[in-house]
Amino acid sequence: MCAVAEGALGRRRIAIIGAGWSGLAAAVHATAAGADVTVYEAGRQPGGRAASTTGPDGTERDTGQHILIGAYRATLGLMSQVGVDPAQVLRRLPMALVDPAGRGLTLHLGGGLLHHAASLLGWSTLPWRARLGGLLWLGRWQAARFQCPPGWTVARLVQGCPQAVVEQLIEPLCVAALNTPMAEADAQILLNVFRSALAGPRGSADLLLPAAALSDLLPRPACAWLSLHGAQLRMGTPVRHLAPITDGRDGWIVETETFDQVILATPARVAARLTADCAPQWAALAHRLPQQAIATAWLRVPTTAAEPDLPAMSCLKGALGEPAQFAFSLAKLHGHGQQGVHTLVASGVAHWATQPREALAGALQAQFRRMLGAVNPTTPPPSAGSVATQLLHLHLDRQATFACLPGLDRPPARIRPGLWAAGDYIAGPYPATLEGAVLSGQQAVEAANAATSRS
Ligand SMILES: Cc1cc2nc3c(=O)[nH]c(=O)nc-3n(C[C@H](O)[C@H](O)[C@H](O)COP(=O)(O)OP(=O)(O)OC[C@H]3O[C@@H](n4cnc5c(N)ncnc54)[C@H](O)[C@@H]3O)c2cc1C
Repeated sequence: MCAVAEGALGRRRIAIIGAGWSGLAAAVHATAAGADVTVYEAGRQPGGRAASTTGPDGTERDTGQHILIGAYRATLGLMSQVGVDPAQVLRRLPMALVDPAGRGLTLHLGGGLLHHAASLLGWSTLPWRARLGGLLWLGRWQAARFQCPPGWTVARLVQGCPQAVVEQLIEPLCVAALNTPMAEADAQILLNVFRSALAGPRGSADLLLPAAALSDLLPRPACAWLSLHGAQLRMGTPVRHLAPITDGRDGWIVETETFDQVILATPARVAARLTADCAPQWAALAHRLPQQAIATAWLRVPTTAAEPDLPAMSCLKGALGEPAQFAFSLAKLHGHGQQGVHTLVASGVAHWATQPREALAGALQAQFRRMLGAVNPTTPPPSAGSVATQLLHLHLDRQATFACLPGLDRPPARIRPGLWAAGDYIAGPYPATLEGAVLSGQQAVEAANAATSRS
């Protein structure tokens, strides 16, 4: 993370609209630079799409299962800045694209590109031809500096890569990182992720799985840090009015207050609504972004059955039509309080979002039962309708992220003089991720700072 030049934003009044990870990153960065920061957040608590909420049954659950990786340097730096030790709240594990029985590719913990090449060669469940073919394919893109022609989809990118490598490595990574099926996903964005994770500094590809509530990874500690450093936090305060000052002075009006600079860190559609009058072209870009859904199901294994020994994260190569691509063992990640609880994550599921919720719930439960049966074939899987497996909660976010399509016109960070946008959807090299959100928040402050220095 780059530091903002001392004094450039000093004592300037900055409004941040939205306290998701991008807004919090912007607020911390601006406060650290000496700005007088006010954060407006529509919800009662911070964190946006990556937070923990308490349901009607009194149980606190995350808004969705999240995966971080070692390459999330801006995010990890921000956590440290607000007093969170990433090692305490994240479990660092080797990147393992394994099935529920633990078979598959496991990369070297803390490894770099050469280690990953060695792991590919040692991928024992794959024939030699496929391992070599996969290595050659990766080597080719590394030699091309992870750059492909514009407009390519991931399906086009993987032509020439052995099918087994595509199915067991590229496809899971594509859907996890881009939340978009391979046939539609932007190849260049996936290559950018590969460059950061596989060819970055050692440890960049390591999995960092939350071992604490998502809100404790950043949102709550960031708010505590902001309060301590004098920022104003207005929770439960949705902004409905945003307009430039019209009396000849520079600045913006948020609700009834005036500010020198504003950083709009809401989801794209809200940002489009708030800027429809003052920046209609920018608003049209933000409004047009296609959205993709993610579903997360919390399921419990039969209380009478022994806890199946599943990996912390496993890839599900489902039967045709099964929705989820990943399963997580919360007992492995969060400990005893979560005994028997697993999450199934279905990414890029726009088509399921149009069907009745019960259909998705039923399909995820059936997939969970089949998964348990496949791990322990001696025990027949609990039958449908039995009390055995229990669906504790289903969270379907229809607008989880933008659909990461080739040629997408993502809105720029600059909206108008003094008005900046931050969020995972802003133009940049990464898909919609926590790291993209954090970077965009920090970059919006850098841009505001540079503009302030010039004026
Ligand atoms: C189910 C799910 C799983 C995901 N999995 C991963 C993953 O594994 N790894 C990963 O890196 N990323 C993942 N993501 C993506 C990640 O969560 C997002 O990229 C990130 O949280 C976006 O942060 P943001 O600040 O850009 O937006 P948001 O989190 O949407 O924050 C926007 C904030 O603005 C507030 N707001 C809205 N309207 C107003 C208003 N009028 N006034 C004031 N405030 C307002 C909202 O309440 C919200 O707090 C996942 C997302 C989902 C939904």
